Amino acid sequence: MRKLALHWQILIGMTLGVLWGMFASGFGLVTFTLDWIQPFGTIFINLLKVIAVPLVLVSLITGVSSLSDISRLSRIGSKTIGIYLFTTVLAVSLGLVLVNIFEPGKAFSPEKREEFREQFANTTSEKSSDAETVKEQGPLQPLVDIVPGNIFGAMTDNGKMLQVIFFALLFGIALITIPPDKAQPVNDFFEGTNMVILRMVDFIMKTAPYGVFALLAGLVVEFAGNDPGSAAELLLVLGYYCIVVVLGLAILIFIVYPLLFTTVGKIKYKQFYKAIFPAQMLAFSTSSSAATLPVTMECAERNLGINREISSFVLPLGATINMDGTSLYQSVAAVFIAQAYGMHLDLMTQLGIVMTATLASIGAAAVPGAGVVMLVIVLQQAGIPIEGIALILAPDRLLDMCRTTVNITGDATVAAMVARTEGQMHPVTEIRVE
Ligand code: ASP
Repeated sequence: MRKLALHWQILIGMTLGVLWGMFASGFGLVTFTLDWIQPFGTIFINLLKVIAVPLVLVSLITGVSSLSDISRLSRIGSKTIGIYLFTTVLAVSLGLVLVNIFEPGKAFSPEKREEFREQFANTTSEKSSDAETVKEQGPLQPLVDIVPGNIFGAMTDNGKMLQVIFFALLFGIALITIPPDKAQPVNDFFEGTNMVILRMVDFIMKTAPYGVFALLAGLVVEFAGNDPGSAAELLLVLGYYCIVVVLGLAILIFIVYPLLFTTVGKIKYKQFYKAIFPAQMLAFSTSSSAATLPVTMECAERNLGINREISSFVLPLGATINMDGTSLYQSVAAVFIAQAYGMHLDLMTQLGIVMTATLASIGAAAVPGAGVVMLVIVLQQAGIPIEGIALILAPDRLLDMCRTTVNITGDATVAAMVARTEGQMHPVTEIRVE
């Protein structure tokens, strides 16, 4: 019998995980699930996370050095960053249009608002203390934060990926400029290490169906506790807001990206989605672009036919700085909160949101929940009360899963565009997802 393809196995794992979670919270198996099932999900995520820093470091160094000369590097680099910015601004603007049309925040009754504010006051103060730290820093602090004082310090924290990227770019550029006979052994070392890391990813992915089962089972019981009904009610109340976010994300995924990858990337609709499906499902289960990166790269190279030269440069960069889903979510969430508080946001303030949400999504780490922390900055700039985050925390994990899926799809779309315009695509004969 033919073995079921990995992406189907993952899908089955996810479905069973959700079903188990619901069953467990209905039949008093919450503690059992948290003690004996969820840890395997954590192990799976850790396995993916442990690969993230070495992968970004090694693939960017090999990516940059394979571009072989500085002028080529700066052309591809500026093209990549330009398209990334374009898609992000597009996403924020789309979010603003939708939230202004549907006005989900106005659906709350005043009593409900008060209730939410009290219920979540504690959790919010935690998030806003993060924001206070950000607020106290000078205007150039984000720039300072990109340059690590110690590379090993930077590599100890997946949230400092921008610093690792900075080091890798500098290293790669220096590597291009030294004499070829001296550069060769260094290149060989990194090429070999790259292959080892990708093989490790293969091994880890074999456990993915079990990993996502455990992750989703844990998530569902954590959310629902011993009372599945309470989760459902909360979701219903915030459903309208979620629908607007999800609608925006769907427009990005099903209309905006296809326009880009079919016209510029010259890839067929179905082929594209079949190719990156495994990465999308992993993004959905892990809520982390960084953890999904190895699989995004594999799908892009193997199934979309993007040459490694491009994918190893564009995708690690994109996982960290290109988060269209996150930026769309931030714009909808910010205006939603303002609406709930009865605030009117004029055009200038909304344009300000375009800018801060773009920057906040670039600055957000590619890990679960980063988007909501950075949302605080968007709110502060626009003068919207940060306590309002309380309103949207409950369904945030679910939206995080959706926006991360969009984030990595956007990265793959841009990689295809850059690769096509650079003549760096190879024909794909068979789409393999294992
Ligand atoms: N979880 C998202 C990502 O890794 C970031 C966020 O929006 O929280 O892409």
